[in-house]
Amino acid sequence: MNPYGSFLVIHFEVGGNTRSLEYQEEFWPAAVDLIHMADEYEAKLTLQFTPQWREYILRDQNKLDLVRRWQKHGHELGLHHHGCDHGDWDGYTNRVGKEVDPKFRGSIQDMMKLVWQFVGADQLVSGTITDEKLDYPKDITYDTEGIRIYHARRKPKRVSLGGNNIIQVGIALLSWEGDIESFKREYQKSKGNEVFGVVTHEKDFAKNPAIIEKWMRFVRSRGMTIKTVSQIITEYQKSYAVKYSDKPLTFLNDVMGTVTPSVTEGKGCP
Ligand SMILES: [Zn+2]
Repeated sequence: MNPYGSFLVIHFEVGGNTRSLEYQEEFWPAAVDLIHMADEYEAKLTLQFTPQWREYILRDQNKLDLVRRWQKHGHELGLHHHGCDHGDWDGYTNRVGKEVDPKFRGSIQDMMKLVWQFVGADQLVSGTITDEKLDYPKDITYDTEGIRIYHARRKPKRVSLGGNNIIQVGIALLSWEGDIESFKREYQKSKGNEVFGVVTHEKDFAKNPAIIEKWMRFVRSRGMTIKTVSQIITEYQKSYAVKYSDKPLTFLNDVMGTVTPSVTEGKGCP
């Protein structure tokens, strides 16, 4: 069976240096190619950028205009944050005492200022965030979390993060050398009330674009199109939420994710 919906998140990574932006320069052409490919398959991607990518794009009006065109075309601009315990920290944190670290760039509030130069503060945004307890921004509406294949399909679940009740869906990492057959098998096991989430990195796409194309082709062969996280969850809420409720986030039991497998073992960021 097909899942309710299927999305593809792209993590745009830090790349080892919180200031140089050389990594972003190297992988920008891959980002452009990826969006082209997605458009050929009418796939709407969920693009989650680390602050370094925002800084890089904001430096060049042409790039910013292009990214905004991607958004207009239906791709979603989300957030990716590596907290200070992550091996590839992005330099932003709310932890006290990290200000003296040479990698330090600012607080989470500073990071969000960069975010709002991309998208208006009133727009929905999804995110994959580490160091959730201290760093989770209050503005995120949809959380994506997971790494292993068994995190890919689940019912949307309400969680409390950043002081808000938000909706979380799972993701599994399809890397450049990933086992796409196991993703296909897992997809086919989906129930109609589950959402199927895949994540990859810009560098994985650059190394092996064919695997991402195979995935897009597979989803299309199932008669479905890849949609963004916010698109799917909005539709899901309409399908499953109490129809005449004046509280749009009031769900039927189905949406509460009562049998959702825990993702705590896969915690951390792909
Ligand atoms: Zn990451």
